[in-house]
Amino acid sequence: MIKLDKVSKSYDALRVLDDVSLTLAQGCTTAVMGLSGSGKSTLLALIVGLEAPDQGEVRIGDDRMAPASALNLRRRMGYVIQDGGLFPHLTARRNIELMSRELGWRAARRSKRLQELCTLTRFPAEALERYPAELSGGQRQRVSLMRALMLDPPILLLDEPLGALDPMTRARLQEDLKSIFRTLKKTVVIVTHDVSEAAFLGDTIVFLHQGRVLQQGSFRDLIAAPADPFITEFIRAQA
Ligand code: ADP
Ligand code: MG
Repeated sequence: MIKLDKVSKSYDALRVLDDVSLTLAQGCTTAVMGLSGSGKSTLLALIVGLEAPDQGEVRIGDDRMAPASALNLRRRMGYVIQDGGLFPHLTARRNIELMSRELGWRAARRSKRLQELCTLTRFPAEALERYPAELSGGQRQRVSLMRALMLDPPILLLDEPLGALDPMTRARLQEDLKSIFRTLKKTVVIVTHDVSEAAFLGDTIVFLHQGRVLQQGSFRDLIAAPADPFITEFIRAQA
């Protein structure tokens, strides 16, 4: 479904991704884990076509991600950027509806989809008229998720969606995300630096370190047969 072939990306002298090859299977949830600065957000930006690789290529299904095809391919992906990226001057409803309005969806279709999404994400429909600043952190994340899901894309990319939440809200959202992923059967890539979250949500884990993939496998693989001592160190530090 998503394939990276020998992808490298630098910002000036800094090599942020270094010869990354990955295949992410359709319908699976992949957790991308690693230290801050390891290249996780850049990896998502390349998948979604917001950044172009210096070398190598990104494929979405049978299509190569390239400047000419990026807009079209992006329609197949829902993307929640780090920190949510909601427009503060728009209500939750307007934020979620943004792309569907651009595509000319009629009001009835938009409101039907919004209702489905409120049920799916357990978001109180009456709070749709509030502005982001008037919502709790957990609710804001639910709104970002709804916005990403509005057009029902087959691929969902989430960049540290639970990063800024208190532990209890985080635990609740983890449970909800898991059941949403299970219900929707989408291809999901979720970035996190949290070991328990990656283990709980990821069918497979991609461990990034200094722009390289140290290992791709189940959490069990990472524990039982770590490809690098740093993986064990990283997991132990959070145990
Ligand atoms: P992560 O999400 O794992 O924390 P990022 O992909 O955001 O890592 O960043 C990896 C490295 O690339 C960091 O050192 C960061 O400062 C640098 N970087 C990311 N985006 C840019 C950019 N647009 N310009 C320059 N440097 C960047
Ligand atoms: Mg990041």
